[in-house]
Amino acid sequence: MKTPSSLEELIAALRCLPGVGPKSAQRMAYHLLQRDQPGARRLVGALGLALERIRHCEKCNSFAEEAVCALCRSPRRDASLLCVVETPADLLMMEQTQSYTGLYFVLMGALSPLDGVGPKEIHLDRLVARASDGIVREVILATNFTVEGEATAHYAGELLRARGLKVTRIARGLPVGGELEHVDTGTLAQAMLERREA
Ligand SMILES: [Zn+2]
Repeated sequence: MKTPSSLEELIAALRCLPGVGPKSAQRMAYHLLQRDQPGARRLVGALGLALERIRHCEKCNSFAEEAVCALCRSPRRDASLLCVVETPADLLMMEQTQSYTGLYFVLMGALSPLDGVGPKEIHLDRLVARASDGIVREVILATNFTVEGEATAHYAGELLRARGLKVTRIARGLPVGGELEHVDTGTLAQAMLERREA
């Protein structure tokens, strides 16, 4: 077998992006090489730097450049509330509602046994430890209303309640199968307000 040319390798590498098939990978590669070499160099630099610097916040598990992120360090946040979301994008959505002043824990996924994502992969042990700091009074489960998100909320809820913690779930103002990332901020703010004991 011949080794792939650098162009073939580039196209193959671009396919690691979500939703990018062979055709769009090819288009991206041609675009970068033919029309936007400065953009391509910038991309290489930014990706390298991010890979080097970005880690997970020790408290909320979201992406951060410091050991503990600015949000977790902020004295203006209500440390008695801990909102559990699936992704950093969901955290941003929740922040945009400007209706929540507590802290977060980001699972970086949802339970999906068929894909090999179990409790360990979504850091539920760390969530339980984080929520048991003696300051958190309420854990708000704000995972998506998908099969995976619901299963995750159920499982995490059991673990947290076993620790004597108050657990709530954001309200179903969201559509069934709904992902936080795709709802408007008003709906999400309402779902947070109408959260109920889980
Ligand atoms: Zn943090």
